[in-house]
Amino acid sequence: MTEPNSLQHLIDANHAWAEQVARDRPGFFENLAHQQTPKYLWIGCSDSRVPANQVVALAPGEVFVHRNVANVVVHSDLNALSVIQYAVDFLKVEHIMVVGHYGCGGVLAALHGTRVGLADNWLRHVHDVKMRHRGRLMHLCRHEQEDALCEMNVIEQVGHIATSTVLQDAWARGQQVAVHGWCYGLKDGKVKDLGVTMTCREQVLEVYRAAIKRYPRRSDPLPTELVIDDLQDGD
Ligand SMILES: [Zn+2]
Repeated sequence: MTEPNSLQHLIDANHAWAEQVARDRPGFFENLAHQQTPKYLWIGCSDSRVPANQVVALAPGEVFVHRNVANVVVHSDLNALSVIQYAVDFLKVEHIMVVGHYGCGGVLAALHGTRVGLADNWLRHVHDVKMRHRGRLMHLCRHEQEDALCEMNVIEQVGHIATSTVLQDAWARGQQVAVHGWCYGLKDGKVKDLGVTMTCREQVLEVYRAAIKRYPRRSDPLPTELVIDDLQDGD
């Protein structure tokens, strides 16, 4: 009988998978052991329902991955920045995709002010996105706000990556690398391209502004104290 705390079932599954891959693609693991040459860097949410490789049908070795709660890229986060720098400078990935997902627990907590514990501090970054664009959010109904903030959060993170020293330097030396923003649907398993792809320094502000303007402000005049802050989003 298996011990209650044993993970033997997972180890068994792993061995069965490895043997199946070795049968289907002889030499697969031996080749991967020598080097990895992924074309893609995936920056996604830690959510168990959004696994990078499966969602885009890529095999081991084809996508470099960084995941955290609510797919946030903060300018001072050495963890995310190290992943991006290694992927761009050494692996020479050609595409970076920030992949949010609808119904993201982190985004919803930030939107609705739900306390979840220590992660509240991390989710302040998403709350900042909400506050920055509240003129484009608060007139929407609840589920529209939720979907829009999941998308806006992705757009903001694409902007953060594009303005990082890593991407700015890569583009300055002529390296071909694009940053994309996607949002994944838990209900149908499909990715939506948010149309915020950035491929050079000159594009960043224009693409960012165009993407954000797809979320119209309410037609009513905003209260005075909101108008002042809203002007800070640059449009
Ligand atoms: Zn999530």
